[in-house]
Amino acid sequence: MSDRLPGFSTLAVHAGAQPDPTTGARATPIYQTTSFVFNDADHAASLFGLQAFGNIYTRIGNPTNAVLEERVAALEGGTAALAVASGHAAQVVVLQQLLQPGDEFIAARKLYGGSINQFTHAFQSFGWNVVWADPDDIASFERAVTPRTKAIFIESIANPAGSITDIEAVSTVARKAGVPLIVDNTLASPYLIRPIDHGADIVVHSLTKFLGGHGNSIGGIIVDAGTFDWSTGGKYPMLAEPRPEYHGIRLQETFGNFAFAIACRVLGLRDLGPALSPFNAFMILTGIETLPLRMQKHCDNAKAVAEFLAGHPAVASVNYAGLASDKYNQLARKYAPKGAGAVFTFGLKGGYDAGVSLVSKLQLFSHLANVGDTRSLVIHPASTTHSQLDDAAKVKSGAGPDVVRLSIGIEDKEDLIADLEQALGA
Ligand SMILES: *Cc1c(COP(=O)(O)O)cnc(C)c1O
Repeated sequence: MSDRLPGFSTLAVHAGAQPDPTTGARATPIYQTTSFVFNDADHAASLFGLQAFGNIYTRIGNPTNAVLEERVAALEGGTAALAVASGHAAQVVVLQQLLQPGDEFIAARKLYGGSINQFTHAFQSFGWNVVWADPDDIASFERAVTPRTKAIFIESIANPAGSITDIEAVSTVARKAGVPLIVDNTLASPYLIRPIDHGADIVVHSLTKFLGGHGNSIGGIIVDAGTFDWSTGGKYPMLAEPRPEYHGIRLQETFGNFAFAIACRVLGLRDLGPALSPFNAFMILTGIETLPLRMQKHCDNAKAVAEFLAGHPAVASVNYAGLASDKYNQLARKYAPKGAGAVFTFGLKGGYDAGVSLVSKLQLFSHLANVGDTRSLVIHPASTTHSQLDDAAKVKSGAGPDVVRLSIGIEDKEDLIADLEQALGA
């Protein structure tokens, strides 16, 4: 074996996996079991006391899920990861380690519609207060910092318009404020952007989208960059203070640069319970093996479709950072040189009614509320995912009444363009 570091595509196929030691199975087996037999009473006690690593119960950890965790940690360049039941579960588990009731976190206003809802309503009921900032105005993050701020949350490529966030600039604000930067990297995937290389302390994903990639399994993951010092300023008691649940150990002191991932597992996942099924972990692992191939095709197709739309008379505007004329093109060249992703929006001259009409005329595109499938998808956010927002908030989050969102799949681009042509023309 040479000592060269494996490249991204090699890691996508191999990281975390080895032939099954018992059977020789080469694909990672689905360990479809709730629980694991202890060697003896001492072994059991040391597992429960966090003195030894090992399997106890699938709510807390599972060997199939462990391969997925190691693989995504390797692809993102983190120290450790924790797989959970969905992208939304990942967000709850992350913030539970960071916020006490009455605390605040700053979030970019351009986010997945479900995250806007989760932050505004569900998290409010936990006493976690979201303060919104504008990802196109870095100073708005700085102005939002207060002594109760515990984290900053952004998307690398932001829903729904595929805009690119200046991760390094927001990371500078987070460093100055002494709080971790959390980046939702769902729309980029680590193939296009690795937020940790740009100053992120925690990365979260909805595995449901490009990582799983086939529209067949819900899942989420949290990646610990290992970069944040949780002991300063008494701000993060879950990580820095003695934990009564575990005989008074301090997680940061005991686990060092993967303490955050451990906290998410032993304080978050164990107690809140959103465990990922090993079957879903297997499906998502299989998807990740082809991530580099799929992601490049998604991006190349998206660019061709965006160029077609930009030249169509019924189209008022196209928001795709991969177009040279786009306002995010500079940021795209810096952060996502291989491609600007496959989710973007465009505006129709005919407004709300034209948006509703288009989604009903498309045949190859599926009209549904998802992104990151092999299949091409379409939705009219103003009448669906973003319908809970008032008109001003819709426009601010990039989901005005005339806006249609596409998630471009890996079909032949000529067929996608032909479908759009018939639906726009008819
Ligand atoms: C889908 C999505 C989520 C939520 O993930 P689920 O797996 O549906 O819970 C969060 N962030 C982004 C950017 C998403 O696209």
